[in-house]
Amino acid sequence: MAWCDTCIASVNDDIVGTDGACPTCGSIIVAPTRRPPSAKFWIFVAGTAVYLVWRIVQLIQWLLHP
Ligand SMILES: [Zn+2]
Repeated sequence: MAWCDTCIASVNDDIVGTDGACPTCGSIIVAPTRRPPSAKFWIFVAGTAVYLVWRIVQLIQWLLHP
C-alpha cells in the first residue's frame, strides 16, 4: 500500500501508475514506510513510557517498604 498526502488516503499498489502517481490526484505518492510516525503513535509511546516508569517506582517502593 502507498500513501497519498494530497488525498489523505492509502492507495493500493495495484492501481498506482507506473510513474508512482496517485490515480486520483496525479501527485507522486510517498511510500507509508517513509512517513514519520503519527501523533497517535507518539502518544501511545509516551503513555507506555509513563506506565513503565510508574511500575518501576512501585517496584522500588515495594523493595524499600515491603
Ligand atoms: Zn492522491
